[in-house]
Amino acid sequence: MSDEQTAGTEPHRDLGLYIHYCEHPGCTKWGGFGFAAGKDEPRWYCLDHRPEWKGR
Ligand SMILES: [Zn+2]
Repeated sequence: MSDEQTAGTEPHRDLGLYIHYCEHPGCTKWGGFGFAAGKDEPRWYCLDHRPEWKGR
């Protein structure tokens, strides 16, 4: 009989809850829309400045 302890149960971190601001120059709104093109790191824009998403 062996009592093995379960290791590696670290709590998750919510990395997606960072606050991003719109990257549009002069805009101080909260960028709730993240756009990631390929391997580039995502850019964040607000509702007014979000680029047209190329879904095709
Ligand atoms: Zn904006």
